[in-house]
Amino acid sequence: LLPVIYVITPTYARPHQKAELTRLKSVFLHVPALHWVVVEDAPHKSQMVSEFLKLSGLTYTHLHQLTPDDWKLKSNDPNWRKPRGVLQRNAGLKWLRRKFMYDGDPRGVVYFADDDNTYSIELFTEMRDTRTVSVWPVGLVGGVMVERPQVSTIGTGPRVTGWLTGWKTNRPFATDMAGFAVNLALLLKKTKVEFSLNSPIGYLESNFLEKLVTLDQLEPKAELCTKVYVWHTRTEKPNMKDEERLRKEGKATNE
Ligand code: UDP
Ligand code: MN
Repeated sequence: LLPVIYVITPTYARPHQKAELTRLKSVFLHVPALHWVVVEDAPHKSQMVSEFLKLSGLTYTHLHQLTPDDWKLKSNDPNWRKPRGVLQRNAGLKWLRRKFMYDGDPRGVVYFADDDNTYSIELFTEMRDTRTVSVWPVGLVGGVMVERPQVSTIGTGPRVTGWLTGWKTNRPFATDMAGFAVNLALLLKKTKVEFSLNSPIGYLESNFLEKLVTLDQLEPKAELCTKVYVWHTRTEKPNMKDEERLRKEGKATNE
């Protein structure tokens, strides 16, 4: 039996939300033993996401966890001002810890998949056998084409020695959220480990991983971290300039 990959996705309402979720669904449907944990940043579960998941054909859990107003990014804030998706990922972790509370031998992997990135099917094959924390390159992030772990093959086996990135190069684990997966049993054993709203800008992932592993414990994937199977794409804000007028005229169409 394959270890189940629990994919935790924070998501929030915006014009292109359903398009983003559809791109993820289209990939996830090709991945066996995947359980999608979708956490809406909202005061309640929306009808759109509920219906979408019901019809998706995927195994899923639908949660919601609202980010309080003072932690929300305002539309004219620069996007690095506040961390996004933090409380939603933590809500996913809390759900997992509750689900496996009485399970003596939990087999699985946990991956944090933001709703706007681009995921390949191969990525999930790579992470499936994660024993502690596995890592791999991420495209289009860190101020470079590819931000990635540096791997040494000298000695006993391949091991991660550091990171190649252009951004905040002093991060102990200089990876984006999309660049690692964690063994489920490890996350369950470390009962208190979660993401922190107080992590300094850019240190969310690094602070999280520091609580779980040391550099030499990391498992390099994707052909010794030479292949790119995930990209930190970001979606352009769609032009909605005539939507409100159409809405007032009663001519707008809902998705
Ligand atoms: N997100 C959220 N609430 C927000 C903003 C973002 O739940 O107010 C989610 C978003 O859907 C995504 C994740 O948090 O899954 C990371 O956000 P984003 O992709 O905007 O971050 P960036 O790519 O800029 O790091
Ligand atoms: Mn993003």
